[in-house]
Amino acid sequence: MPMDLKSLYRAVIMDNYKNPKNKGLTKGDKYEFVHLNNPSCGDEMNVEVLVEDGVIKDIHHDGHGCSISMSSASVMSETLKGMKVSDAKRIILEFYELVLGNLPENEEELGEAIAYQGVKDFPARIKCATLSWKAIEKALSEVEKKNG
Ligand code: ZN
Repeated sequence: MPMDLKSLYRAVIMDNYKNPKNKGLTKGDKYEFVHLNNPSCGDEMNVEVLVEDGVIKDIHHDGHGCSISMSSASVMSETLKGMKVSDAKRIILEFYELVLGNLPENEEELGEAIAYQGVKDFPARIKCATLSWKAIEKALSEVEKKNG
């Protein structure tokens, strides 16, 4: 990866860490809530999602942990908000591949999440990067179970 791209990606991660988007839970009745932790780093992640008519209307997150896990939750919420659940599930899988070093066919779809491709060089941080994505994946499957 070129150095200028590396520093751009680092800037995306630090900006989302310092100024997280969609942070703070509503605890609304219509939201599906999931808590996950990452014992290897000590990250704690809460994610809630509002799904209506198969579309992700809203996402919030809260928790504490390292800059990778916390910034990734902000980026995840911005990336997936407004998507159909079916599209979001595909993007989530693409993100899991991305942090292993496998770029998706359509990089645009991942938005700022593309910044986490450098994580592949730090295998211990992969669980940090994917924590919030695992949480929303679980929340979306709970929603689907409830809706039959
Ligand atoms: Zn972490």
